[in-house]
Amino acid sequence: MEISAHRLVGVSYQETPNKKGTIRPIYIIMHYDEASNATSAISWMLDTKSNVSAHIHISREGTVTQLAPFNAKCWHAGISFWKGLRDLNKYSIGIELQNKGTEFYTEKQIESAVEVCKTIIAHYPIKEILGHSDIAPGRKEDPGTRFPWMKFKPLTKRDDNGTT
Ligand SMILES: [Zn+2]
Repeated sequence: MEISAHRLVGVSYQETPNKKGTIRPIYIIMHYDEASNATSAISWMLDTKSNVSAHIHISREGTVTQLAPFNAKCWHAGISFWKGLRDLNKYSIGIELQNKGTEFYTEKQIESAVEVCKTIIAHYPIKEILGHSDIAPGRKEDPGTRFPWMKFKPLTKRDDNGTT
């Protein structure tokens, strides 16, 4: 996977109108979509009435759809804070995973998500991958207790040379 002009090359792209302004992403925020199927979750994020969006959606089959360039400010975090920052939409790339909230994530879906995160981390100065629950505690629970953090947390660990 590679990124060109803030987009994943070779990935389905459907641009959401639900975005405003540009950002320089330093975090990735993981979410679940709570939707019954991938199509309805994507349609909702493309609908101006929803006022929500994320940069990436990943279906249970592992299909990746991009909805906005990575330097666009999407609307996935809501009221949020982390390490002195507020409104994390201004600093983060949002990834929605198809999951009703209590389901196990599929292997294909997690493989795709790891690949997307690795590609983003190679391209932007990402400090951490966080859950929506980390930046909106008490208000949000996603990506939930089924999310395999052990596959994602090491991706932003720095070695002794200070490189990722
Ligand atoms: Zn969320």
